[in-house]
Amino acid sequence: MIIAARYLMTGDGRSVLENKAVLTGADGKIKRIGAKETLRKDFPEEEYKDYGDATLLPGLFDMHVHLAYWYSQPDSFNYGPQLVMLYALQHAQSAFERGITSVRDMSSAHGVCKNLKLAAEKGFVTIPHITHTDTGMCMSGGHGWEEVAQVDGPWEVRREIRRQVRDGAEWVKILTTHRSHIPEYTQEELDAAVDECHRRGIKCGVHAGTNPGIQMCIDAGFDTIEHATFMTLDHAKQMAEKGIAWTPTIMAYTLLYDICKENLEKNAGAPVNDPVMQKEMKDYQYFEPAYRAYKEHFKEFYDTGITVIAGTDMVMYQSPLLPLPRELQYMVEYGITPVQAIQTATSNPAKVLGVEDERGLVKEGLDADLLVVGGDLSKDITCLNDVKLVTLGGRKVFENGIRYVGTGNMFM
Ligand SMILES: [Zn+2]
Repeated sequence: MIIAARYLMTGDGRSVLENKAVLTGADGKIKRIGAKETLRKDFPEEEYKDYGDATLLPGLFDMHVHLAYWYSQPDSFNYGPQLVMLYALQHAQSAFERGITSVRDMSSAHGVCKNLKLAAEKGFVTIPHITHTDTGMCMSGGHGWEEVAQVDGPWEVRREIRRQVRDGAEWVKILTTHRSHIPEYTQEELDAAVDECHRRGIKCGVHAGTNPGIQMCIDAGFDTIEHATFMTLDHAKQMAEKGIAWTPTIMAYTLLYDICKENLEKNAGAPVNDPVMQKEMKDYQYFEPAYRAYKEHFKEFYDTGITVIAGTDMVMYQSPLLPLPRELQYMVEYGITPVQAIQTATSNPAKVLGVEDERGLVKEGLDADLLVVGGDLSKDITCLNDVKLVTLGGRKVFENGIRYVGTGNMFM
């Protein structure tokens, strides 16, 4: 198949080419990138589709998802393992309509992501690439304790990591601060977590939003820090220097701020139906400065050269599934260019996941995970809301509002 569009954004954070086309091979890889007319002439047998005034770019990565986060459903009592699996499946499938072809799951119910991947390998389902942790881990009574593993002390932390690696975890997720300035894990526990992961050759991400927890996580040497809401310029510089990537999850905190504010203003703080929101309402005081922290500092942190990776982290009842285009739009509103924002969802995540030789760029030899959106994306990030085509390994999985499975059967 030859896919052509007026603009081609490679995903490297700089390059936008014009009037190019991409030829995908039978092996699911990008076989050739060249001028439209040249490719058409050289490969006359190939199906050719020109999307006109549109932008071709790599399929996007959402680096912070919870595919199986069912806890905020009002009828959570209905959610047994089978329903949780189906919930996670439809969550994963929704990725395509957002142009997402890879996700990193940062804690889901035990075994769900592993089984989804197996189902995809067997051809039962068509879903994005998944890289996943097992359930996260926190100290006893720490952030998320109702949903993640509670482990205390460096050796229990190591033991839990060993168990998770045994059961197929590809990353590890630690949670250590929550809405207060008191760090949860001690430095000794954080150091043990990172050491055990790196010794085993896997990477480790940590939930940390406040100080001094953020500094402790930088000192421990995590691979990614999630949220880091109240980080300072000095933290950003240290992270840039140490190669620790940052998943800001701007939208998650902004949405919480907006919903809490609306509830307080319009409903006079009336009880809400979502247990997660009920808890969050108590933390309204946190979200206002959180929202401002991203808005006021995102650009100066970005400018330190820190590796930013885009993630959505949506867990509330009826929150949009994987709203990555909106996350990238916030980044642009807060000062970076659309081309730079796209890099946080393409080549940056690929490097963090160690799959840069397979995905994350429009480049010959890489997987043909491709996205076409209407208009000139380099000028207007909201073009991401107009998804024309998504391919996964050269196979069409979404086109003009229709999701495809198998070799092109209509699914919805
Ligand atoms: Zn999360």
